[in-house]
Amino acid sequence: MAKDIVCSGVRPTGNLHLGNYFGALRNFVRMQDEYDCYFFVADYHSLTTHPTPGSIYNDASAILAAYLAAGLDPERCTIYLQSDLPETAELYLFLNMNAYLGELERVTSFKDKVRQNPNNVNAGLLTYPTLMAADILIHRATRVPVGKDQEQHLEMTRTYAQRFNTMYGSELFPLPQAVGSPAGLVKIPALNGSGKMGKSEGEASTIFLTDEPSVIRKKVMKAKSDSGPTEPNQKKPEEIENLFALLRAVSTEETVRHFDELYNNCTIRYGDLKKQLADDMVAFVEPLRQRIVELRADSEGLRRVMDMGREKAHESAKRTLDEVRRIIGYRH
Ligand code: AMP
Repeated sequence: MAKDIVCSGVRPTGNLHLGNYFGALRNFVRMQDEYDCYFFVADYHSLTTHPTPGSIYNDASAILAAYLAAGLDPERCTIYLQSDLPETAELYLFLNMNAYLGELERVTSFKDKVRQNPNNVNAGLLTYPTLMAADILIHRATRVPVGKDQEQHLEMTRTYAQRFNTMYGSELFPLPQAVGSPAGLVKIPALNGSGKMGKSEGEASTIFLTDEPSVIRKKVMKAKSDSGPTEPNQKKPEEIENLFALLRAVSTEETVRHFDELYNNCTIRYGDLKKQLADDMVAFVEPLRQRIVELRADSEGLRRVMDMGREKAHESAKRTLDEVRRIIGYRH
């Protein structure tokens, strides 16, 4: 039986952080042998926030290096830059012809962006779900690794796929389903006590995969905690639960159990917990950071990976687009 096709990407809006690693990259790595995978760097999507020409390639290279450092293997999956696949842009155009203003305006992430940035409500932002649908449908992917925040977009991808199929009486597009991580969806919290790790919570609350050990230690030691439990087996407040969630991500089970016991018998010292957390985070991030530095220094090697990915992605995209054009009625 043919393997399910998986497709997903990450926007190059800065260096990747531990949230991206546990919420996306780690799952990608686990999927590359199980499915026929297409992982891309979403450098068309990033244009909604108008990056400078000088930063586009640089930011995309940073994501590509992080993909490779995390363990994606260009021999076992297809890794490419979205902008290397103009077929995606053509399919986006076709899908936009059947995407309606009302449904696009109702998308939660669009409404959030409008609130956050009322002076930059561009058409690219509005049609983000059709571009995401094009990314997925160009490979006729059946599975998409998505976080909670992307579920609505994936639902729209199914809508556009079904709409195309119905309109032209075809079965070209499968309706892609979400695929979660084998261990369930993890949320990596920010270090400031609330919210999830990511740029919106600020750089001081986010551990980037490119952070040096001293930077990690400084950030972790400043993480929000409180004055400690006053009764045995007390429920943990959010900022403490968050420290434990981070510990669960990077430390051994034994370490987590040890601090849990200290918390439950009210003898915990958060300075000790943070020191352990910082050590374990450094041990986790440092090999990734070093690998990213090596990969980024080898620009020829990165270019080879991009070229190889473009070839493989192009083959798959061309097959779909030839069919789409024929079905729509071009080149009878
Ligand atoms: P972003 O860079 O925010 O667009 O995130 C890209 C992907 O990384 C998301 O779709 C999630 O799968 C994952 N991700 C980002 N931040 C976190 C986080 N704090 N915890 C878990 N997963 C995350």
